[in-house]
Amino acid sequence: MRKYIVAGNWKMNTSVEEGKQLAQSLVNNTPELASNHKVILTPPFLHLSTVKETIEGSHLDLAAQNCHSENSGAYTGEVSPKMLADFGLNYVILGHSERRSYFGETAIVLKHKVDQALTNALEVIFCIGESLEQRESGDFKTILLNQLKESVFHLNAEDFKNVILAYEPVWAIGTGVTASAEQAEEVHAFLREELAKQYSNDTAEATTILYGGSCKPSNANEIFAKPNVDGGLIGGAALKSEDFIGIIDALIAQKS
Ligand code: PEP
Repeated sequence: MRKYIVAGNWKMNTSVEEGKQLAQSLVNNTPELASNHKVILTPPFLHLSTVKETIEGSHLDLAAQNCHSENSGAYTGEVSPKMLADFGLNYVILGHSERRSYFGETAIVLKHKVDQALTNALEVIFCIGESLEQRESGDFKTILLNQLKESVFHLNAEDFKNVILAYEPVWAIGTGVTASAEQAEEVHAFLREELAKQYSNDTAEATTILYGGSCKPSNANEIFAKPNVDGGLIGGAALKSEDFIGIIDALIAQKS
């Protein structure tokens, strides 16, 4: 069954204490979730331990914002997928546009990261998205398709079950400019068609495709109402408990 998800990407924000308070507020205020609804918090690495303790026993899940492509070794400053799995995490975000553009993560690096994360039984939230220039070039769907071909379409259907896609138009991330619900739906429907061609209709139907880019309580209902949008990857609005809860409420309202 397709999962509907709201995942909050805290990026490099909050002190440990602020993160703990945010997680506690979400534990206290998140409504009861159906079994196919998931709410995932993605704090900075340093906060994972505290947030894990805070959400223990609740229905919230935890993810990492990134991982390395090797399990161990001389990679100063890095965190491996094996360490994340050992710590008890179930999810990792890979391919975020900020990792691609600020840290030079290429499609081939991401392919290795995806493989190693899956080998360690992590589910991968894999981000793709086009820049404004690419969208305006008119052929941005080919660019999105290539991002899939280069980093995840080598997976077999069984492994692909552990991939969640996040469509995040780069021009909408952190800019306050949101893709319209129609723009999001058009891309999500295209991605699902491509999944059906690459794998099967069953895989296409089972895959969760999140939208990310300036999603907030005021636009989440309209975006999540679209049949091919299965929830959101949320940046700025994940840092305020009321806003994040508003987005969770929208998911529950639209996908029940
Ligand atoms: C993100 O960085 O994944 C994101 C969607 O950010 P924002 O919601 O702030 O645009």
